[in-house]
Amino acid sequence: AEARTPARVQRLDATLANQIAAGEVVERPASILKELLENSLDAQAARITIHLQAGGMDMLSVEDDGTGINPEDLPLALERHATSKVASWEDLQAIQTMGFRGEALPAIASVARVEILSRTHDSGQGARIAVHGGEQIRLEPAARAPGTTVRVADLFYNVPARRKFLRSPAAELSRVQKVLRQIALANFPIAFQLLQNDRSLVQFPAAHDSAACAARVAAVLGEGFMANALHLEQSDRDLSLRGWLGLPTYNRARGDEQYFFVNGRPVRDPVLTHALRAAYQDVLFQDRHPLYVLYLELPPEQVDVNVHPAKAEVRFRDSRAVHDFLFHTLRRIIAGQGGDLPQVTVP
Ligand code: ADP
Ligand code: MG
Repeated sequence: AEARTPARVQRLDATLANQIAAGEVVERPASILKELLENSLDAQAARITIHLQAGGMDMLSVEDDGTGINPEDLPLALERHATSKVASWEDLQAIQTMGFRGEALPAIASVARVEILSRTHDSGQGARIAVHGGEQIRLEPAARAPGTTVRVADLFYNVPARRKFLRSPAAELSRVQKVLRQIALANFPIAFQLLQNDRSLVQFPAAHDSAACAARVAAVLGEGFMANALHLEQSDRDLSLRGWLGLPTYNRARGDEQYFFVNGRPVRDPVLTHALRAAYQDVLFQDRHPLYVLYLELPPEQVDVNVHPAKAEVRFRDSRAVHDFLFHTLRRIIAGQGGDLPQVTVP
């Protein structure tokens, strides 16, 4: 037999490493929007404006009035594993911010043309940095009100194979809107606006009282949902669940109007999904789906959010307790509403 020699082990260059990481967090404009919105939320923004061109494929920018970034930190914010949010293992155990991986900006900048313009509240002037395909091209002073704008243009211009996976601008826009709705439902006090080619498509004014919050929920899920939903607020020891639960009679063919947040983070989780399905099981046909907007809160150290690069999944320390609390709470509420109301279906 021929002698076979091993290939040499080499370190990936930084851009390639970022492009590989981008495969996990930068799938399309909607996933970029999620990361940028999370950064604005972590920066305590009160008002966030999103601009799009071609559903975000040509251009997507997120503008906020948050803390801003120190000019000397701008180049670092674009490097992998650089973050202002965690410094120790202990921080990670009780994470309060949406971000913590320090991966989003470098990943996005490795597959698009990115420009960040930012100014902190205590400095008289801002700074701008531009990065194209992972190569930093300049850092210069620039004018801006306090806050940050991140502009992402020409997504996947340097990785055509990934660009081919994008759909039409209309399809990308609809995913972008879905992400915005999700984040808007978890951040009532923050005002959001989405524009495409300078035309306003979505606007959520800041909601500070329960009527305004209910109005935002109605804007997302429809007036019909609000008329057919129960508001709930339940807690048991350190678990609490609140939100709006659609009546079983108000159901859909698709499970696309289901919003579940764990400590303010939108998640898909098999434990939660199972508890919800089981709670509705006897009152809903197998192929129909309920609508809901639910917020589960628990002490941060009881849930591990560091499971998934896009942070869409979580792991509960005691998933049995979470499951049972959810199931029993929802079950009681649904059963109390008489499962034998006539089935009204919604398109
Ligand atoms: P992470 O959010 O996990 O820290 P990112 O790559 O998303 O990583 O961001 C890197 C850093 O850039 C953040 O830790 C933060 O310090 C800074 N940053 C990014 N976006 C903003 C923003 N909109 N406002 C203020 N700081 C920001
Ligand atoms: Mg981030």
